Amino acid sequence: MHVLLRLAATKCPLSTFGSDEIRWAGNNTGNFTVSSAYTVRKGIAFGLEEDVWKLIHQIMTNKERVRRHVSSDSQCHLCHSPVEDIDHALCKCPHAFLVWRELVKPRFLTDF
Ligand SMILES: [Zn+2]
Repeated sequence: MHVLLRLAATKCPLSTFGSDEIRWAGNNTGNFTVSSAYTVRKGIAFGLEEDVWKLIHQIMTNKERVRRHVSSDSQCHLCHSPVEDIDHALCKCPHAFLVWRELVKPRFLTDF
């Protein structure tokens, strides 16, 4: 239904702009090249890797709160595991697994 509403709200292009064509968004020419695909792929991988690195270092787990004397409770408040460290918060907590289950293809879930 959402897609149908978006299609209904999309204006048809004017014929003065020419006909529609498929264009590669990985460079300015609109033409696909292997080198531009590699550049796009490399950029995405580096950006994602950097984002994950920042995310991991910004997560304040309960274990880290105890270490910094902000709290005295290192327990996971979702599953009541005795220690919520980064490994637990991102992988081992059953609540985190529910998120991964939605994001990762089933055949790769055993890697977690
Ligand atoms: Zn937990």
